[in-house]
Amino acid sequence: MEKPEKLIVDGKRLDGRAPDELRQLKIEAGVLERADGSAYVELGANKVLAAVYGPREMHPRHHQQPDMAVLRCRYNMAPFSVDERKRPGPDRRSVEISKVTREALEPVVFLELYPRSVIDVFIEVLQAEAGTRTAGINAAAVALADAGIPMRDMVSSVAVGKVDGTIVLDPAKDEDQWGTTDMPIAMIPRKKLITLLQMDGHFTGEEFKQALDLAFKGCEQIYEAQRRTLMEKYAIKQGE
Ligand code: ADP
Repeated sequence: MEKPEKLIVDGKRLDGRAPDELRQLKIEAGVLERADGSAYVELGANKVLAAVYGPREMHPRHHQQPDMAVLRCRYNMAPFSVDERKRPGPDRRSVEISKVTREALEPVVFLELYPRSVIDVFIEVLQAEAGTRTAGINAAAVALADAGIPMRDMVSSVAVGKVDGTIVLDPAKDEDQWGTTDMPIAMIPRKKLITLLQMDGHFTGEEFKQALDLAFKGCEQIYEAQRRTLMEKYAIKQGE
C-alpha cells in the first residue's frame, strides 16, 4: 500500500476512530480444554490466543530456580497471520517479543510460591494487524488468571503512536507503518506501574507525557474488559 496523503482527516483516523479511541476489543477466557488456562483476544483485526500450562516441574532441570518458578513465554506468529506467508519458527522479532512479554508479566505473578517449577505461556498470533505484542500480553494475563495462578494484580497493554503530528491510541497497521512513533506499553493499571515500555521513533518531553497519559486511559479500558471477562467466566457478582 502507498503512503496515504493524510492519516488523520478532520480529526478522524483512516478507520474512523478518534485519536484517543481503542480498536474494537473482545476477550474470552477458558477457550482451550487442554491448557490449564487460556484466553482469546481480538483487537481490531488482531486475533491472538494464549495458553498457560503449570506450574509444573521445570525441564530441563538445569533451568530450575531453587527459590522460585520460571515464567517461560513463547510468542509465535502463525504462517498465515500476515499477508505474505511468515516463515514458521522463531526469529529475532519473536524472541524479543517473548522476552518483553515475560518481563511485562513477571511482576504480578507470585513466582516465589513454586520453587523449581515452570509456568509456560504460549502466545499464538492467528492474525496480525499491528499491536500483536500488546494483544498477546492482554491475552496472557487473562490466561494466567484463568489457570488459577496466584497473581498480585492484572497486566494490561496498549500501544500509543504519533501520526501526522497527533498522538494516537492503539495504532492500526497503516498508522504503525506510516506514523513516526510507536510506543507499546504494559502496566498494572490499578497501581499505574509500568512493566513494559518500548519506543520506536521520537517524542518530545511534552508528547511523551501526553502519550503516557493516553496509554493509562487505554489500559484502564482494557483492564475493565479483562476483569469483566474473568468475572463473567467465574460468575463473581459485584460486592460478593
Ligand atoms: P506488533 O505486532 O507488536 O505491533 P511490530 O511493530 O514488530 O509488532 O509489527 C507490526 C506489525 O507488522 C505486526 O502486527 C504485523 O501486522 C506486521 N508484521 C510483523 N512481522 C511480520 C512479518 N514477518 N511479515 C509480515 N508482516 C509482519
